[in-house]
Amino acid sequence: MFRQKAHEAHDEKPGHEEHTITVLADPRLETKQPEPKPISISGADALPDGPNVAVLLDHQPTERYKAISLQAVDKVAEKHPALKPHLYDVKLAGMVFPFKASPYYVDELIDWDAEDLRQDPFYRLVFPTLDMLDDSHRTMLEEAHAEGDPKKLIQTVEQIRADLNPHPAGQKLLNAPKEDTLTGVQHKYSETVLVFPAAGQTCHAYCTYCFRWAQFIGDDELRFAQKEANSLFEYLERHEEVSDILMTGGDPMVMKTRSLAQYLEPFTNPSFLPHIKNIRIGTRSLSFWPQRFTTDSDSDEVIELLRRVREEGGRHVAIMAHLGHVREISTPKAKQAIDRLQKEAFATIRSQSPVMRGINDDAEVWAEVS
Ligand code: SF4
Repeated sequence: MFRQKAHEAHDEKPGHEEHTITVLADPRLETKQPEPKPISISGADALPDGPNVAVLLDHQPTERYKAISLQAVDKVAEKHPALKPHLYDVKLAGMVFPFKASPYYVDELIDWDAEDLRQDPFYRLVFPTLDMLDDSHRTMLEEAHAEGDPKKLIQTVEQIRADLNPHPAGQKLLNAPKEDTLTGVQHKYSETVLVFPAAGQTCHAYCTYCFRWAQFIGDDELRFAQKEANSLFEYLERHEEVSDILMTGGDPMVMKTRSLAQYLEPFTNPSFLPHIKNIRIGTRSLSFWPQRFTTDSDSDEVIELLRRVREEGGRHVAIMAHLGHVREISTPKAKQAIDRLQKEAFATIRSQSPVMRGINDDAEVWAEVS
């Protein structure tokens, strides 16, 4: 597991901080990496007006989501100077591994005053480091960068990515239903179908440990995505043994509510595929962008959609939150989002998380989060 190597060593190798911080731009990062469209909230008409949200709006301005990409880390360093000594590390590692953060994550979850920033759990969770590469890949990358030839650098990045095969056990072939027309669906447990909606194949921020990173690097050969709901519904109709749908990604909650509704709205009708009893949505938006459920322009609609699937469709709706640290659910914004999901959408929030070295491999962290 190459990601498990990520945090085995944390001390920067000698000489790194003397490097010039400029890193050649990787054109693919600018042209191919999918980004969710910024959500704009304009004017009072666009603001949600539910009772809990009215209280929320009394106390905080609405914000719009704008992804912080690798190209924007210099700006982050201007605002949070503790990042400056690590820019070379982040920029070079970020050419191989996808990097993205949200303003909420950067400003409210990372402890920029930490004695050692690289030990801060939330810095480590999202900011890539060259320590994620083995020595030979790291040397290849640093040498290609030092040569200054953009073509050579791109080829090197591609070679390293190919070596880090994201589907090492043939998952693309072995876990998928054997139907050419049905892409982006995995059916490996008889009662559960995993759906990867095409519009949800990104996240509000990217985790450094993510084993689905191939979804984010703009390589269609590696990508696994479900393009339209009807073929999924036809498949489910023929498979009455399926009781659970797990919508996953990426993060389905990056989708606008109208896109999510293509998959969920039919389940507000109890006679539609009645053998589907449980709908689970895997999302890290509570951690990365809790505003998805409170102040985004279609946050009311998503809460209402989940409520209708639960109440009108009679399905069990669960938000699989993947919480790994108590800090994620301690901010006022996260608490407000949890409140809406539970009290207005009547959704169950469940969580599971990997144990991540230096992030939550500590019994006290788990005692707090549970
Ligand atoms: S939220 Fe999940 S899919 Fe997205 S980067 Fe993190 S681990 Fe990967």
